[in-house]
Amino acid sequence: MSNDMIPLDVVAPQEGQIKQLADDLFWFRFTLPFRLNHINLFALETTAGWLLLDCGLNAESNAAQWPAILAKLQAKKPIIGIIVSHHHADHVGYAGALAGITGAPIFMGEREYEETALLLGYSDKEAADIGGSAYANFGLGDIGVGRRRDRGNYFRTLVGDLPEVQIVEPGHSFQTAAGVWEVRFDAGHSPGHMGLMDHARHLYIGFDFLLPRISPNISVALREPDHDVLADYFAYLEEMRGLEDDWLIIPGHDWPFYGGAPRASKLIAHHEHRLEQLLNAGGPLTTNDAMALLFPFELTDHEIYFASCEARAHLNHLVTLNKMTRLTKDDIAIFAPM
Ligand SMILES: [Zn+2]
Repeated sequence: MSNDMIPLDVVAPQEGQIKQLADDLFWFRFTLPFRLNHINLFALETTAGWLLLDCGLNAESNAAQWPAILAKLQAKKPIIGIIVSHHHADHVGYAGALAGITGAPIFMGEREYEETALLLGYSDKEAADIGGSAYANFGLGDIGVGRRRDRGNYFRTLVGDLPEVQIVEPGHSFQTAAGVWEVRFDAGHSPGHMGLMDHARHLYIGFDFLLPRISPNISVALREPDHDVLADYFAYLEEMRGLEDDWLIIPGHDWPFYGGAPRASKLIAHHEHRLEQLLNAGGPLTTNDAMALLFPFELTDHEIYFASCEARAHLNHLVTLNKMTRLTKDDIAIFAPM
């Protein structure tokens, strides 16, 4: 086994450009208005037409990037399906609109569909109550809680309504013009993320679970702040350590690469280091304290959401490992070393 990743020797597509990655797999890239400033989107060619993979945000800037790509694809074949990997806004946001434009059905795993429907269904008040009580439990204080409450249902501002969705079952595979892509469902970065593997050609579209540059955000859901999502992600990464060197990993951000196993090892080490940092703090910690330790820089409201939920995921895992205990005082969860 090699012990490092090797980026695929290809320049990322410019706006409006489509790059071919395999006989049936095509790559394009849209800009995002976040610190993570782009998303990779794909199309798989089948004999009947194109399967689109992920959609971008439900935003003007995203809508403006689709026509050039759709025109190129549709000049050759129709769009016959829209596969959505998981419920995060940059992946599912524009799915409903895209289904409307193309007339194609949306395919999603059940868990991610349920999560999307749940988050879309909250009223501003419900979202404010759930977010506000989680932030209070994190120890983010009245100002943090108030700013969270003021955002209402932020998810709805980035994700459009979904029409009826076709649920993809475990074990399903998508037959294309050049191969067979078997779905896999993993938990960690999201609860039932769908990846696609072509076992004959050693191609793995891993979307957001195995990224080459950044560590995928591992966050508790605001309505389930005590869940140990990091344990789920560790289980996934352990499995990825068994990938042979010749698998090409095709991620939802940054660039395709070889070396999924060494990348998985690095991500495990990254999270283990964070767990150590929290233990080495030596004293009891709120989630807010843990966030300040792990992310010691100025954070926007959008970033506080990811950073606090990720800090909490690490604290929860230390409880699972019996290295910390959790007690609640004045509605704030406090984690103390054993
Ligand atoms: Zn994601």
